[in-house]
Amino acid sequence: MAARASTLEARYENAKEELEALEKDARRAGLRHEWEKVERLFVGIHKDAKGWANAPAALYRVALTREGLARRSMNPADFKAAVDRYEEVARRYPRSALADDALFAAAKLCMERLDDASAARKILERQLREFPKGDMADAARAMLSGGKSEARQPAAPAANDTTSGSSKDGDALAVLRQVSWKVSGNDAQVVIELDREARWSHQFVPGDERTGRASRLIIDVDGARADEKVRPGARISGKVLSRVRVDLSVKGRTRIIIDYSDVERYDVDAIAGRPYRIVAKATRSTKGLPEGTSAEAGVSVRKPQGKPKDIAEQLGLGVKTIMIDAGHGGKDPGAMANGIVEREVTLAMAKLVGERLRAAGFKVLYTRQRDVFIPLDDRTQMANNSKADLFVSLHVNANTDSSISGVETYYLDLASTSSAAKVASRENSVSEKNLSDLQYILTDLMLSAKTQESRDVAGMVQSSMTKRLASYGGAPHGNGVRSAPFYVLMGARMPAVLVEVGYCTNKAEARLLASSKYRRALADAIVDGLMRYKRKLEGYASR
Ligand SMILES: [Zn+2]
Repeated sequence: MAARASTLEARYENAKEELEALEKDARRAGLRHEWEKVERLFVGIHKDAKGWANAPAALYRVALTREGLARRSMNPADFKAAVDRYEEVARRYPRSALADDALFAAAKLCMERLDDASAARKILERQLREFPKGDMADAARAMLSGGKSEARQPAAPAANDTTSGSSKDGDALAVLRQVSWKVSGNDAQVVIELDREARWSHQFVPGDERTGRASRLIIDVDGARADEKVRPGARISGKVLSRVRVDLSVKGRTRIIIDYSDVERYDVDAIAGRPYRIVAKATRSTKGLPEGTSAEAGVSVRKPQGKPKDIAEQLGLGVKTIMIDAGHGGKDPGAMANGIVEREVTLAMAKLVGERLRAAGFKVLYTRQRDVFIPLDDRTQMANNSKADLFVSLHVNANTDSSISGVETYYLDLASTSSAAKVASRENSVSEKNLSDLQYILTDLMLSAKTQESRDVAGMVQSSMTKRLASYGGAPHGNGVRSAPFYVLMGARMPAVLVEVGYCTNKAEARLLASSKYRRALADAIVDGLMRYKRKLEGYASR
């Protein structure tokens, strides 16, 4: 027993050190599998620890590790798993000193991270019933009363308030679709996109140099809920912005918290329409934003009226420059079957699409115009550096099932189907990052990705391709618009889509892909779709 305990003790101490080291290592802490590795250490120790004095602590650390992962992935499933583990501690070790801490930790996650006040209340009530004199009892009582008052808050905005935008659709909640930001030089702009007009207010809290507290702009949108795609937050390392978070812990209210590392003046205003956009601008230059408010003016609370403005001017919308990315190249041939080599088809297609776009008046840039290898990261970086307005990546698909054919258009998001995940996994294979890492990285990028716009572009390109290609004998049916975590689309600051022009593994489609007539038709179709998107934006601008 003594020998076993000493081995367990050593393993436990080692696992604790691993956890500590991981928390301090920003790079590794960004990777899901690193957390799961440490979690497995504690799970293994706990499994072997029956009767050992530290068994409850080992299980508690399983929960703690999962919570550490959840705080980085912001994935509700991870928070839920941490809650389950904490509850397991209390269930299996009711006499341990950690039991009430575990219940309180579980309740806190339910309340603050899972937006589930009723689950939190149940856990807290159980904690107070079973451990009324525990050291966490006061904290539980405090949270319990706070939770109740929150639950009484009205979920919908007052209908007769005309001091700011009010919902036109009765009680229907506005949906927060996307929060995006742009930092250029001394200026930062955060755009909050809602599907309809909503009542909102903001307050500015100046930073404190002595305590190092950041200046903070808080925007509350009443009666709004968040699209499930919106993630709770991301850190930004920049000269102006340092952090953007979305707080959904109060039902019927969406709070966007923007922390600035350095700000002189700021301005918040809305652009009417659907989508309805709230735009927060800030500058660290004393000369910028003459219409803005000085950041030194103290705490300010305003309820401004949303004014319609020229949306194109406000957001710098409009498509002038398009970057075309011919997939693969050089040492990376891409998919190969039936005499088709992906890197060759994509390069030929890129040139056809580029010629047509140039003729239509766009400025066209290419990630490659020769048969060279370009790492995936470099491709979106090129688009960002050249300030392209659109990024279009061209690829040829492949499948082990040769009966599958068709055109597909993707935008960056978590995979929408398992076959979409497979396509992403194949296209990502040239990168050393694995799919679970990408899912993790995505949670941070989701807020900055132009998901909504990219979905629009993808839809227009896809429908234009299916229409045009329908006339081809035995023409492939469109497989639709899908989302998947494509590494090549990550980090793009403009709407970005990936077009799979067909399956080389399908004999009939491979024959089509080899024909220059079919390639021209494909190029026409892609350009048509992009033109439709451009016209849609111009429609916004002239409205
Ligand atoms: Zn490819």
